[in-house]
Amino acid sequence: PRLYLEAELSEDGAVPLEPAQVNYLLSVLRLDDGATVLAFNGRDGEWRCRIERTGKKKAGLVATARLREQTKAPTLAYLFAPLKHARLDYMVQKAVEMGAGILQPVMTQHVQASRVNVERMRANAVEAAEQCGILTIPDCREPLKFDAALAEYRGRGPMVFCDEREDAESPVATLAGLPKGPLSLLIGPEGGFSGEERERLLAEPDVTAISLGPRILRADTAAVAALAVVQATIGD
Ligand code: SAM
Repeated sequence: PRLYLEAELSEDGAVPLEPAQVNYLLSVLRLDDGATVLAFNGRDGEWRCRIERTGKKKAGLVATARLREQTKAPTLAYLFAPLKHARLDYMVQKAVEMGAGILQPVMTQHVQASRVNVERMRANAVEAAEQCGILTIPDCREPLKFDAALAEYRGRGPMVFCDEREDAESPVATLAGLPKGPLSLLIGPEGGFSGEERERLLAEPDVTAISLGPRILRADTAAVAALAVVQATIGD
């Protein structure tokens, strides 16, 4: 097991675990005093830790050895029109596994979900980070309206957006031709981008439309496909 803790890890005493983490380790995995788990806090690398029980339903972790140095967060910003519940959970988990360092919901004209639960997004991001071995938790941001998102990410580096129209560019050639540095990747909602949004995007400097093939993919499929191409070409 591998856990994210917000607290400083210490070799001198047990860092208390959250009730849900205690339940996971002691009841679900049936581990006990002295068992080994891995832990990270996003700042101090990865540590081997020992479980120390401090009560019937209480336990903490004592750091015993540092196994990995801290690494930087990936620079990829993943911008997406939020989907509903389970599919958004899936999309967040997959984006973290595939190297997104920033998760940015964008409210477009045809977006289906009117609100986004950023806390739930973060809980999914933490779970995915624990599972996939990274040492940082992606930055889960509050939703931005389409215009505000363009303003926020303009100048950060190139942006590519996924566009099911036939005249969009090949993703591999486009990504391979980009200068090194932070990339922003934007996926549209189930209803697609409006004509006006597409025009606005294409009028921006450093924004390119990429195609993911001749079929119309669901937004969560498009996200995984696009993130896989980014990872395979310029991923960090
Ligand atoms: N507007 C479309 C419609 O209703 O017919 C469908 C939008 S699609 C379900 C959701 C999003 O996935 C799109 O906005 C786009 O970002 C991405 N997408 C889906 N298929 C794609 C493809 N073949 N190439 C590039 N992007 C695609």
